[in-house]
Formats: sequence, C-alpha cells, structure tokens
Amino acid sequence: MSFEKLGIIKPLLSAIKEMGYEKPTTIQTRAIPLVLAKSDIFATAQTGTGKTAAFGLPLLQRLRKPLENKGVRAVILSPTRELSIQIYEDIEKYAKNMKIKTMILVGGKDLEKQRKKIKEGVEIIIATPGRLLEHMESGLSLNDVETFILDEADRMLDMGFTKDIRKIHPLLPKRHQTLLFSATFSEKVRKLSKLVLTKPAFIETAKKNTTVDTINQIAYLVDTKRKAELLAYLIGSRNYPQVLVFTRTKASADELVIELKKDGLKCGIIHGDKTKANRLKTLTQFKEGNFKVLVATDIASRGLDIEHLPYVINYELPSVPEDYVHRVGRTGRAGREGEAISLIDVYEKYEIRDIEKLIGQKIPQETVDGFEPDPTIRRKDVDEVKLKAEHKRSSGKKERKYNTNTSGMPQTRKQVKVTKKKRKTTKRDG
Ligand code: AMP
Repeated sequence: MSFEKLGIIKPLLSAIKEMGYEKPTTIQTRAIPLVLAKSDIFATAQTGTGKTAAFGLPLLQRLRKPLENKGVRAVILSPTRELSIQIYEDIEKYAKNMKIKTMILVGGKDLEKQRKKIKEGVEIIIATPGRLLEHMESGLSLNDVETFILDEADRMLDMGFTKDIRKIHPLLPKRHQTLLFSATFSEKVRKLSKLVLTKPAFIETAKKNTTVDTINQIAYLVDTKRKAELLAYLIGSRNYPQVLVFTRTKASADELVIELKKDGLKCGIIHGDKTKANRLKTLTQFKEGNFKVLVATDIASRGLDIEHLPYVINYELPSVPEDYVHRVGRTGRAGREGEAISLIDVYEKYEIRDIEKLIGQKIPQETVDGFEPDPTIRRKDVDEVKLKAEHKRSSGKKERKYNTNTSGMPQTRKQVKVTKKKRKTTKRDG
C-alpha cells in the first residue's frame, strides 16, 4: 500500500516525504479511507503506531478547502500538554504546504493571548480538555466543528477528564464526525465510545493490549536494594546511548536520580511535581542528547515521543498493568526495533504475571551475573505465601474468606462460627 493509493493529496504527500514516511503503517492504511469517508471511528492503536498521521492526514485533506465565516472546524483532545504539543508539531509539519490555521490550547500559557489568536481565526484546535473548557466558558464556540478527535482516550479517562469530555460533547453540533483512539480497551473507554460515537467503524490494529512485535522484552530478577546498582551497570557496561527509565512514584524517581548521579551518570527527571515548562525543557535536552538517562513517572511520561528511542527500562513495574503497554510503547516506534527491560524484585515476580496476562505473552526472566537475587530473600516461603494472597486479594480474584462484624473489623472463619452460635443462643434465650 502507498499513501498515493490511499488517495492522499499532493501537498500532504510532499510534506510526509520530507519527514521520511515511505509507506503507511497499518493504522494509517485502515483509518485514512474511513476518515476521508466521514465515518466515525473507534480505533485501538498502540503508542508509536503512527496514529497521529492516521487521523491528521485525512483531517487536513478534508479541511483543505477554506470556508468563509467559519469558526473552529476540528478539535483534537489529548490528555497532556506534552502530547498536545507533539500532535501540534506533527500537524504543522503535515500542513506545511497548505493554508490551514492550527492552534494549541494547553495550560501554562496566557489565556488572553490565546483568546486573541482564536479571534483572528483558527480551524484546528489541539487542546487538553480542561483548557478547552475554560475557553468555551468564556465564549469559544464549537458550532462549526466537523471533526472531533479524542486521542489516548483511555488515559484521558484515567486522568479524570470524564466530566470535562461529558461537558464538551453536547456543545458540538449534532452532525459531526468523531474519531476515538485508545491504546487499551477498557470498560470506561467502551462507555465513552457509546456516548460519543455514531455507528463507528472499528479498527483494531493489534491484539488487545499487546505490545509492539518489534520490542524485545526481558525481565531481570534482582534484589530491591540492588536495583539502582544494576541499572547503572547495564547502562555503563552495555553502553546504552539513550535510556528512558520508569519508576512508580515521584519519590523513587528522585531517589534513583541521586543514586545514578553518584555513579557518574548524567540524568534528567520528569514527574508530576516538575512544572510543565521544566518537563518540556528536560525532554528537549534529552532529545538533543545533553544526557542519556531520563527518569520518568507514568503520568508525566505520557505523550513523550522520542524518535528512535532504543531502550525503555522499568526500574519498577507500573501499578496498573495497562501502563506497561504505554511505557514500552515509547520504544520500537513505527516499526523500529527496541528493547524493554524490567528490573523485578521478589514482590514484582507476582505483578509481572498480570502484565503477561494482559499482553498475552510471557516475558522471559533472567539474572545478570553478579546481581543474582539473594536466595534467602527469595526463599522466605511465609512471605511469599502472604504476598501471593495479598496480591490476589488486591486484584479482586480471591473469594472473601472473611466477614466483617459491626465494628468493621475482619473476622476469621472460626470467629464467624462462634458469632453465629452466639446469635443462635441469644435468639433461643430471647
Ligand atoms: P505516533 O504513533 O503518531 O506518535 O507516531 C510515532 C512515530 O512514527 C512518530 O515519530 C512519527 O513521525 C512516525 N511515523 C508515523 N507514521 C510513519 C510512517 N508512515 N513512516 C515512518 N514513520 C512514521
């Protein structure tokens, strides 16, 4: 398949040629004709599959004829400022030979300046839900919107934007096209799709929640307290040129950076406590090669697009298995090879099973010479049994063995029996 065969017009073809796009990716082959035919779409597409062009190219093609006295003709919603900027930059590149006015509405920028620019006329708005609502509350009309796009819908819902989307949606004109893209297929996303889509075409570019084929995945077993040391060793001994490292919390991201710096590694850090300007600056420096290790938490990393990123390391597994798919999707983008390494301790040995279940494949577990886990820690059977039980409980798989009494305290089976007996006696007594 070629972009020409998909019916993409010349100004767009020459723009993407300059960007090095030779042939369309799977999601592009499937989505472009449907978007051009004005169909609603529900697409489960992984990060890095080329979904921005899958909706961006046909959108620009549909809007190529300028309409007099028209307001905003397309809205693209994304969960984070970083992803919005990424989409904006891509759309601007695709549209370089066209006269289409595009604008980005995200927090951290002067509202008044944004208002002024909107008044001068804009056809495509790329926004985070909150900032778009702020503008709508002060008069921005979406009456002329022809296409409404929700990118990374699953993450928008996870980040609590459901209410905002529910407020925005009824203010769109009755007849409009909606394109919904989501990396994962959750119940929440399905509910949203029912609200916003009309007779959608379904596009599933890969098996639900699977990771991209070109990513080699491996897990190294290691003791918790030796993880930072192993990480520094891997980066140094294997001479990794550019690594994105994920931690579960802001605190462990901070601690890890201190440890890596002690080992002489220059690092950047991106997490929720950093200002948006700071996150963006760090990302730019990472992309420019000012340092080779970027430590990030899940939410802060959303939307990061780093070309040819060869390595993603899970210093800690994510608390939600779906985030594993997002994390490793940062490598192996658009058909390139990538490697995703997870450093797992005795606790995470159980958590990785949920991830394997979700992605439908086994992640090989190995040890690195000199970093083998301490067998005495691994053989603490009592702890392991406890952990297994705890893990099952938290994932809601274990049937309830305990009842609660009036004080809300759990009761063991034995206690329950006794209580029942007591109740009977009381009844008889009464
Ligand atoms: P996306 O999934 O839209 O974030 O795209 C991931 C990366 O793949 C970006 O760097 C895009 O510029 C790039 N890309 C998208 N489509 C193609 C294509 N057809 N050929 C080569 N690279 C592409």
